[in-house]
Amino acid sequence: MSLPGEVDVIVIGSGPAGLGAATELASVARVLVLDRETEAGGIPRHCGHFPFGLREFHRLMRGPDYARALVARAEASGVRIATGVNVVKLHPGPRVTVTSDQGPHEIRAKLVLIATGVRETSRAQRLIGGEKPAGVLSTGALQSLVYLEGKRPFRRPIILGTELVSFSAIMTCLHAGIRPVAMIEPGPRITARRPAIVYPWLKRVPVHLSTNIRRIEGREHVERVVLAGPEGESTLAADGVIVTGRFRPEATLLEGSHLERDPATGGPVIDNFGCCSDPSYFAAGNVLRPVETAGWSWAEGVAIGKTMRAGLQGKLPDIARHRVTTTGDAIGWVLPQTVRAPENAAFDRFQMRVNRPVRGRLSLRVAGSEYASRSIVSRPERRITLPLPPTIGPVEILLEEK
Ligand SMILES: Cc1cc2nc3c(=O)[nH]c(=O)nc-3n(C[C@H](O)[C@H](O)[C@H](O)COP(=O)(O)OP(=O)(O)OC[C@H]3O[C@@H](n4cnc5c(N)ncnc54)[C@H](O)[C@@H]3O)c2cc1C
Repeated sequence: MSLPGEVDVIVIGSGPAGLGAATELASVARVLVLDRETEAGGIPRHCGHFPFGLREFHRLMRGPDYARALVARAEASGVRIATGVNVVKLHPGPRVTVTSDQGPHEIRAKLVLIATGVRETSRAQRLIGGEKPAGVLSTGALQSLVYLEGKRPFRRPIILGTELVSFSAIMTCLHAGIRPVAMIEPGPRITARRPAIVYPWLKRVPVHLSTNIRRIEGREHVERVVLAGPEGESTLAADGVIVTGRFRPEATLLEGSHLERDPATGGPVIDNFGCCSDPSYFAAGNVLRPVETAGWSWAEGVAIGKTMRAGLQGKLPDIARHRVTTTGDAIGWVLPQTVRAPENAAFDRFQMRVNRPVRGRLSLRVAGSEYASRSIVSRPERRITLPLPPTIGPVEILLEEK
């Protein structure tokens, strides 16, 4: 496809969030979705397992079927999707610079949506020591090899991490006839929510809590892994390591751009309309925070697509915004980070996470008066939400621990 010089809306990223928003906008605008991968659909394309699609198609689907259905629905509504196109720079205007096999190119638009998703933290970023043999992969890389290329990179790997995606890693292994030797969790508890906890037990994968990887050993391929646990050092024979989770928004595009970034989420600062610090840029899906499910990201894309549609029709309230401040050092992040008058907003609740296990009272004040409060017992990775107030003013979220 030859790329146009101008459209109404550019959507960067063809995952559930980008496609949800694009489909919503297609009836009122010329929408162009750009993705650097060779196929559209985002992360679900290489999650060959259930459960996807309940919110969007009211049935249980595997990731690749779900991704294809989202793409088909977007194209049927009139969205143009260009793959193999890497967006490399965001400019005011709005205008984006892209590279593709046609060379560098610039595209102008009335509005741009950033929906570039998340990525996992690599071995190097986690400072895992030892040799550098082949066989150390992220879950995403493992899923691409298994589901997209039909490969089996190892037979007896160790899985580092116990987030929800770590259980996806077990499913991917079992699908490919790979038998994980163990799951390793540096913290004292499994991070994922409750139903996932029984899965390694059912599949007979031992879980080592309060344990970390000290060294990976092996010349060409992983041969063994040295662990540091409550009883000291131990060695496990393994031919691979899957480094899972510790997600970070894929926000490389914000570096060197004019858009404000939130150090707490790692993604762009937005308001309750999904609007960035430059009102011609919006953001949706997992680029906003680490990390939510495909269904959640899709619903967010649809809601923000609706507000962008109102924006194109000149129906958004003025952008005078109030900052959301937080008190309590256990608050990891809060989204949206700014608020404006709430009529027709995409978000009706704040989303937040804590950065360590907490027990306490959470309250929300607007212009100094308490609007909502509740007790919470929570852990990192658990979803916490609070209602957005109907009145406008500076918002403070307080967490008092017991
Ligand atoms: C390894 C892994 C496994 C996961 N497993 C599950 C699971 O089993 N179930 C679940 O519900 N969720 C899972 N998730 C969470 C996942 O992020 C969501 O399911 C969902 O895909 C988020 O949708 P999104 O549209 O925000 O982003 P994505 O689906 O990540 O889509 C983002 C798209 O943006 C494109 N992109 C990024 N930067 C650029 C650029 N500069 N130029 C052009 N294109 C760009 C990417 O190629 C990608 O296609 C997983 C995430 C990861 C990383």
